[in-house]
Amino acid sequence: MPISVAIIGAGPAGFYTAEALLSQGVDARIDMIERLPSPYGLIRAGVAPDHQSTKRVAHRFAETASRDSVAFFGNVEVGREVSFEELQGLYDAVVLAVGAPRDRALGIPGEHLPGVYGSAGFVGWYNGHPDFRELGPRLDSRAAVVIGNGNVALDVARVLVKTPPEMVESDIADYAAQAIHAAPLTDVYILGRRGPGEARFTSAELRELGRLADCAPVVDPADLPAEADAGERGGISPATGEIDREKRIRDKNIAILRSFTALSKDTSRKRVHFCFHAAPIEIVGHDRAEGLRYERTRVAQGRVIRTGVFGAIACGLVVAAIGYRATRIPGLPFDADRGLIPNDDGRVAPGVYAVGWAKRGPTGIIGSNRPDGIVCARQIDADLAGTSEGRPGRAGLERLLGQRRVRSISFAEWQRLDSAEVAAGGGVAPRRKFTSLAEMLAALRG
Ligand code: NAP
Repeated sequence: MPISVAIIGAGPAGFYTAEALLSQGVDARIDMIERLPSPYGLIRAGVAPDHQSTKRVAHRFAETASRDSVAFFGNVEVGREVSFEELQGLYDAVVLAVGAPRDRALGIPGEHLPGVYGSAGFVGWYNGHPDFRELGPRLDSRAAVVIGNGNVALDVARVLVKTPPEMVESDIADYAAQAIHAAPLTDVYILGRRGPGEARFTSAELRELGRLADCAPVVDPADLPAEADAGERGGISPATGEIDREKRIRDKNIAILRSFTALSKDTSRKRVHFCFHAAPIEIVGHDRAEGLRYERTRVAQGRVIRTGVFGAIACGLVVAAIGYRATRIPGLPFDADRGLIPNDDGRVAPGVYAVGWAKRGPTGIIGSNRPDGIVCARQIDADLAGTSEGRPGRAGLERLLGQRRVRSISFAEWQRLDSAEVAAGGGVAPRRKFTSLAEMLAALRG
């Protein structure tokens, strides 16, 4: 008898797990339970709208979802329509692929002022995430600060400064494109509490900021190590004798930033300023953000040392792109410090597994979730194959949702919505997204 597996969350981590269960030949019926009406998680609502090539993996996930042994239950929130305990009763295995949807807190005065947003909300807003379409970020000033030196900070800065023609082939939400392009914004400051050598940018994403149509990157050469230093600092892996990956990325990033300093003072209307060694200490303003104060830092042995020297940037918009946290699932332990579900290489409790950011914390690219799925499928196979107690699985979930009159969205319905979105893109944009359940239900009725 096949085992029944519920995967909570239909983002990359969930799909890679379903895919691994199928490819490893585990005899399983797999139900993907997703709180949004649409699948694909960060592919749809996290990856930048102008990075369409990263989103192509959704085609592969669609093939997985279309297999007979896999079902998609969109618009079903665990903790709202069905409880986690109920799922445990219905399924042999429950996989937590719930990601890390909450923003880390900045923990500084002023972070709750209007005009200050976490990247989860801000990125969700421009990506048409139903939870954030009403965010209405304040875009009425000339300057914005993006806090953090990771790829999300680069995404946010880039989306804010690209011209309308540069965004034509993106799937940015219409309301966001209009608001951003109507905004008076000319200067975006990317604030890092450490130096360029510690930044977590990947090189391709950093390089993009030097190739924009109407925006120039601004880097203070004094922030960069001397050229000789850059090539000499450690980084030989004792295991392989090779220059390690992190050092290669860091050297490449520094070379890219150096190339930015060499760009002639051009006539671009907008600028992205890299402000290194600046730890945010306060967002100032009376009834909204009016500026950000920071303290200059230096880095010694990887640690941030405050210098007692302060500076300020006047700005009406602050986006904190400083990482994410998972949410607590009632009935399960939660590591509040690390913002994840405690687990032993993915095993959370008997029959309960975690994958992706819920397992590891918010690091890595989309493909980093694939190994988690492979490990999880092996664990499920080793722990449970052939032991099915005949739990009701899908039939039980459908019965429960029926009794509760839950309007779940099937994968076939999602495919109709997907086709409608692509058609609305008019052959230029990859799609025009529905951004609410009501719009999606209306389209399905139509
Ligand atoms: P991240 O890479 O972890 O970067 C977070 C940044 O925030 C770091 O620079 C960190 O500095 C800084 N930070 C944390 N707390 C702070 C505080 N209190 N004050 C000031 N700065 C603070 O996180 P992310 O940018 O959210 O990205 C998450 C993951 O998604 C990453 O693995 C990223 O590569 C991936 N991603 C990839 C792409 C892509 O491939 N195109 C796009 C988007 C995201 P410290 O280093 O000092 O802690």
